[in-house]
Amino acid sequence: RVKKSGKNTFKFYSWEMDDAFLHKVEMENELRYALEKEQMVVYYQPIIDAVSGRMSSMEALVRWNHPVKGLLAPYSFIDIAEETGLVVKIDQLVLKNVCRQLNEWRKRDCTLLPVAVNLSAQQFESAAFLDMLQETMGESALPPGSLEFEITEVTAIKDLEATVRTLNQLKEKGFKISLDDFGTGYSSLNYLRLLPIHTLKIDRSFIRDITDNVEKRVITETVVSLAHKMNLTVVAEGVETKEQFYFLRERHCDKMQGFFFSKALAPGALEQRYLNVQISPQIGEFIS
Ligand code: C2E
Ligand code: MG
Ligand code: MG
Ligand code: MG
Repeated sequence: RVKKSGKNTFKFYSWEMDDAFLHKVEMENELRYALEKEQMVVYYQPIIDAVSGRMSSMEALVRWNHPVKGLLAPYSFIDIAEETGLVVKIDQLVLKNVCRQLNEWRKRDCTLLPVAVNLSAQQFESAAFLDMLQETMGESALPPGSLEFEITEVTAIKDLEATVRTLNQLKEKGFKISLDDFGTGYSSLNYLRLLPIHTLKIDRSFIRDITDNVEKRVITETVVSLAHKMNLTVVAEGVETKEQFYFLRERHCDKMQGFFFSKALAPGALEQRYLNVQISPQIGEFIS
């Protein structure tokens, strides 16, 4: 980026800013192109029922299959996608892919489990979301129970009224809604009361330290019992160890997700391991 200062002279005001700016423009163009070429792929991470140890649903997580850089996780592009509004298109592409995949699994007689899709705040800024959803679902004729949606608190409060309205419409249509990353935003109890949600996902940063940090342990226990009193299902995110699993199960956390069970997998790998009706594996069966 250059600044004109007088006749035929150009002044760079900051090399760093220039670099950052160029990087952003480059990324934005690449992202736009990637979306056009549908370079985004969806990975699926199992969510496990704490009591039975069986997979009860899964979360769809976007990956960018970059032609040069390889498979990229969301942290390397989701911020720029948010800033440029392209995240709305990413979410739509993910939704389309998920619907297509669910139909594939249905055709092949796989175990059918609900898929949770992440939605960005910007999705609720226009009324187009519900139409798009209707259209995508209609094309694939999936029952609403096959999809769930995850929103974060930050998403929800950007425009609380619009969010509550949209979520209520989703709920009426039979979709389930989860509040993601709980504990990292405002975690206001009032939002828990106002938002029509079914599930609370306790953020990984609490789960990571539950076995050796008293405060995080107490907070986690309290959130579980509060959620249950409000008839919400509780999912613990980022469960990585046996100790965390035991702790959470003893405290009646309903579901768990984390590397202890499985990382997010490509659809083929997931199908082979977990969706084969003949095998119907109990992911936590080695734990008990
Ligand atoms: P999230 O929705 O909270 O998803 C969970 C993230 O935690 C995933 O990271 C998952 O791979 C990771 N994770 C799961 N278990 C463990 C564990 O035991 N240990 C550790 N260290 N990490 C674990 P991922 O796939 O990199 O996604 C990061 C974030 O990007 C997501 O957080 C979500 O906020 C966003 N994201 C992903 N896909 C989409 C999408 O399609 N649309 C939108 N808007 N955002 C998405
Ligand atoms: Mg999520
Ligand atoms: Mg989360
Ligand atoms: Mg997150």
